[in-house]
Amino acid sequence: MPNANYREDFPVYEKNPELIYLDSAASSLRARPIIDAMSQYASYAHANIHRGAYRLSFEATEKYEEVRKKVAKWIGAKESNEVIFTQGTTDSMNHLMHFFEDDDRFEKGKKIVLSIFEHHSNLVPWQQLAKKKGMILEYIYDFSEESLKQIDTTTQIVAISLMSNAVGLIPPIETIIQKAHAVGALVVGDGAQYITHREINVCQLDIDFFAFSGHKCFGPTGIGVLYGKRQWLEAMPPPRFGGDMIEYVTEQETTFAGLPNKLEAGTPNIDGVIGLGAAVDYMIYRQVQNNNTLDALREYAVDQLSELDFIRLVQPLKDSETILYGPIISFTVKDVHPHDVASILDQSNIAIRAGHHCAQPLMKYLELTGTCRISFSIYNTRDDVDALILALKSVRRWLGYES
Ligand code: PMP
Repeated sequence: MPNANYREDFPVYEKNPELIYLDSAASSLRARPIIDAMSQYASYAHANIHRGAYRLSFEATEKYEEVRKKVAKWIGAKESNEVIFTQGTTDSMNHLMHFFEDDDRFEKGKKIVLSIFEHHSNLVPWQQLAKKKGMILEYIYDFSEESLKQIDTTTQIVAISLMSNAVGLIPPIETIIQKAHAVGALVVGDGAQYITHREINVCQLDIDFFAFSGHKCFGPTGIGVLYGKRQWLEAMPPPRFGGDMIEYVTEQETTFAGLPNKLEAGTPNIDGVIGLGAAVDYMIYRQVQNNNTLDALREYAVDQLSELDFIRLVQPLKDSETILYGPIISFTVKDVHPHDVASILDQSNIAIRAGHHCAQPLMKYLELTGTCRISFSIYNTRDDVDALILALKSVRRWLGYES
């Protein structure tokens, strides 16, 4: 496999050569260039940003703002001020939820439309918003013409994951955006999984908001991005008040800074931003997005898993023409709880995810309590899949079943 060498980029394998890491959808492993960039910054270049009148601070500010430009270019934003650094996808969604909550345009009786495939991060905030404002929360369960008619003139927000973390499904986002805009609704895109696997151009897509997290892109935790069209970000009230987000403060009044500072109060996660910048460079260098090798690896794994009669693949809407799948596979093992499967596989150094994947409404809809989930990244190879298949063959026997 051409990507076999990529393992060398990931120091964790030096200490754990036996590790078979199949949980990148939860968090990707950390690549050396990112660790090095963060260590370099912390050792030799750290100072607080935006406020120092000395070289180290100027340089730190420059580095921080360069990352904003880099991210903006990478995701196809019109301008870097449309990129706001947050703590991650969850934090981005919560910023948005407070924005919609405070804005009178979003009204009682109007609809928020979600897909059933959403992660709780792109579900609970909207559920809470609906409760607070008396809005109606509606789900679509597939992406057929008929179902998309739910996005009607009473809809104000459509919140949708561009790749489901629970089952890997990629919905027809272009069509959804067209339908939403045709009725004047805004589209919030959860890109937490999509961002590492598919190229995104927010401008071409014409999406209103798009969020992702650094730790799923080989970068550090605690950093993420909220992209928003300028007109919306300008309308957003500051999510937090304090230093760095002000223009002028008197004893009784404050005027706020412009974008992006207005939305980034206090000393930000500068280390995280440096790490995210290095992660973007790394992803471009390794051509992580639209990676055919990973798609082929998924196909190989699906084929191999399909051969096992005690495995049930969980691939909702797989026969629908408008649905694609990313390199995330959910499955169940006959008679065995997913947590038991994960614990048994751990004996063979195979790390997989088990449970509801923060998508309990989806699990309920699929009449499952949970699944086993494997997810691939550039350090995975067919050998990893082969080892998984071998280990899966023994799971049921471990628990006393004959085969
Ligand atoms: N959305 C999706 C699709 C995810 O996979 C995740 C992380 N599992 C999140 C949102 C939340 O991301 P974070 O925990 O980094 O805020």
